[in-house]
Amino acid sequence: QELSGKCVGCGAKLQTDNPNTIGYVPPFKLTENHRFVCQRCYYMVHRTLVEDQLKIGATEDSTNKDILHSLKLFEQRLENICSKRCIIVYMVDIFDFDGSFVSRLPFITGNNPVILIVNKIDLLPKDINIGRLYVWLKNQCEARGLTKIHRIHFVSCTKDYRMGETKADIIRLVQYLNADVYVVGCTNVGKSTFINRLLSNTVEKKTGQELLNYLGLKQGQFSLTELKRAFKDKKDPQLTTSCFPGTTLNPIRIHFGRSHSMYDTPGIIQPHQITHLLTSEEIKMVLPKKRVRVVSFRLMEGKCIHFGGLARLEMLQGKPFFFTVFMSNEVKVHPSTTAKAEELLETHVGGLLQPPISWRKYKELGNFKAKEFEVDGVGWLQSSHDIVISGLGWVAVTGCGRLKVRVVAPKGVGVFLREPIA
Ligand code: GDP
Repeated sequence: QELSGKCVGCGAKLQTDNPNTIGYVPPFKLTENHRFVCQRCYYMVHRTLVEDQLKIGATEDSTNKDILHSLKLFEQRLENICSKRCIIVYMVDIFDFDGSFVSRLPFITGNNPVILIVNKIDLLPKDINIGRLYVWLKNQCEARGLTKIHRIHFVSCTKDYRMGETKADIIRLVQYLNADVYVVGCTNVGKSTFINRLLSNTVEKKTGQELLNYLGLKQGQFSLTELKRAFKDKKDPQLTTSCFPGTTLNPIRIHFGRSHSMYDTPGIIQPHQITHLLTSEEIKMVLPKKRVRVVSFRLMEGKCIHFGGLARLEMLQGKPFFFTVFMSNEVKVHPSTTAKAEELLETHVGGLLQPPISWRKYKELGNFKAKEFEVDGVGWLQSSHDIVISGLGWVAVTGCGRLKVRVVAPKGVGVFLREPIA
């Protein structure tokens, strides 16, 4: 049986036939008179039943194929969207800037204005210099071809940091250009959280007349409290937010102001992020929830640092350097000697070296690949480079002279050098 509606969480077309494909609703639910969320979104909201099968690309089952197919379709659709006049709210995750930057975006957006939202600012160390960060970000965007940015906003959706002025800026541009808004970004940058936050307190600021207009009612019938309650009931329900990649499938239309719409679009998948190799439990460990505790190590030749069992950095050649690790506090970081690295992994993966959560899961990561870098230090006061492991975090290198290092990470995971963020 096919239902006419769409899931109010992810936007997938609802159906009651196949629990293994997107948009499934159990038939017994049909007797209940409410708007539906598909079973998948239901599980994601009620975290107890989140299954590993939600992991994109992990297995070749039909769910994953469907998701990948709809994401491909979405990329094509995005090109159509951008061919008309609209405002692109483009979100990146500051903690995984390189992993969350959609490289094709600058070529898709055309002449439409782009508001860049840099989310999860709460995860960076407190002493970070926002002015320097701004310059760093502009350089990074320009190097990737994103040169026409209308405005950059540093926000934290979960901590409600700078959300008010961001919202005001978007509204101003919507009114000025009389255009709809598309929220675009890679999976997991926080798009759904951002939109929920934007919409959450709108009712408080509405006048009685605005509420009457919105609800299509005549004056004098209801009190302001009743109108606000009616508005909240009618308002689009909360979108599904989740720490699992790829949970919003079709663009979801949301009323924004009286005559405009905002669209939450499916997260664009970046296959080089390490999260795509991990189980739901491991993803929770790798994605930081709190401000990261930064740890520094002084390494000399023959030493290495393990990032759980997911990757390691080996010091090959050079005078001792400082390596400052910016990763989730739940990724266990340990120094050791390079010669004993494999032995240490065999005994401690799943325990002292987590994630992965077990030796079996470690083996499932597949082959590991080594990548070597040579860098020139710029002194003890300033890092010369960040070594980024896509989706996991980065290591800032500080020291004098020439340094040769090797990073060992699962095959397919992006490992690269960049200008230092801090
Ligand atoms: P989407 O896939 O882009 O829609 O991302 P979601 O909104 O589902 O968020 C992905 C994960 O990032 C969730 O676990 C959120 O709680 C988390 N998240 C979103 N915004 C922030 C933020 O500002 N700070 C932090 N620390 N986490 C955030």
